Amino acid sequence: LSLSNQIAAGEVVERPASVVKELVENALDAGASQIDIRVEEAGLLKIEVTDNGTGISSDQVELAFERHATSKLHEKDDLFRIRSLGFRGEALPSIASVSELTIETSTGKAAGVHLKVKGGEIIAQSAAASRQGTTIVVEHLFYNTPARLKYIKTTQTEMAHISDLINRFSFAHPSVAFRLLSDGNPVLRTAGNGDLRQAIAGVYGVSTAKKMVKISAENFNYQIEGFISTPDITRASNKYITLVINHRVIRNFRLSRAVERGYGSKLMVNRRPIAIVHITTDPLLLDVNVHPTKQEVRISDEDELAELITQAVRESIQTSER
Ligand code: ADP
Ligand code: MG
Repeated sequence: LSLSNQIAAGEVVERPASVVKELVENALDAGASQIDIRVEEAGLLKIEVTDNGTGISSDQVELAFERHATSKLHEKDDLFRIRSLGFRGEALPSIASVSELTIETSTGKAAGVHLKVKGGEIIAQSAAASRQGTTIVVEHLFYNTPARLKYIKTTQTEMAHISDLINRFSFAHPSVAFRLLSDGNPVLRTAGNGDLRQAIAGVYGVSTAKKMVKISAENFNYQIEGFISTPDITRASNKYITLVINHRVIRNFRLSRAVERGYGSKLMVNRRPIAIVHITTDPLLLDVNVHPTKQEVRISDEDELAELITQAVRESIQTSER
């Protein structure tokens, strides 16, 4: 069992940011409105994620570390109508197989539970306070997979991945208050009041956020909402485009290009837009079960969506210039 978890970990847990991603997704799926992320040495020494979500009842907590034991799918059709961020039931067992993990969780209704897992084996269990929510601490990541550890870049690079990840989460979930601390120092803090422009201000600064213009469009299958920078505020790369589909941050080269195409002739090599694009659609039109990290999503009519995005961006930029 621990071997198959380690094999899965090879795909799910590429670097410290992958751990942070999975833990934050679980917190979001648990309905948290406040998520605190503390990392030490860019997560290589320690990653701690605390949420105020539903928590796990003490009789279910061991199950959470069993492979493919997700609480998020109930019927066979659920895989085609995914509304949660997780659904494969492999993140926790994978992470636990390549680290020392402790979890303290409570539903708030009864005493909580504290569990310590090392290299995938439960090594201690005790009762804990009944404050509703979950704290997961992951220490000594990759301690038992030296080859993976060796592949890890500098702490600076790893921290950049974590911070980029939380920035994008804060855009995808403006009603969640995120707090990111690195070696005790505040990196990001969002209000979580549901205002996307304010979430953008938290990351890119108030004056940039103020100058960004709204985008909005819809057709039968897709609804688009978001913000884009006008051509006078641009960046030198396309990594300032965040695409969110049904609250999931995705990577999609063609849709990023669709955003840029809306800039028309104003698009230049070192002048790329900052954009946050929220796409809402029927989960049936998406296939999220493409890759274990779930960042890649198949969209049933991507061309139609790309065209709608380009149109929406073009209209907003033209309106802003009037
Ligand atoms: P998945 O998210 O795909 O279901 P995971 O391995 O990430 O699988 O988590 C396993 C299970 O543990 C989840 O289905 C959920 O029931 C529970 N869980 C994990 N993290 C949390 C959390 N922060 N709050 C509440 N439940 C959690
Ligand atoms: Mg999960």
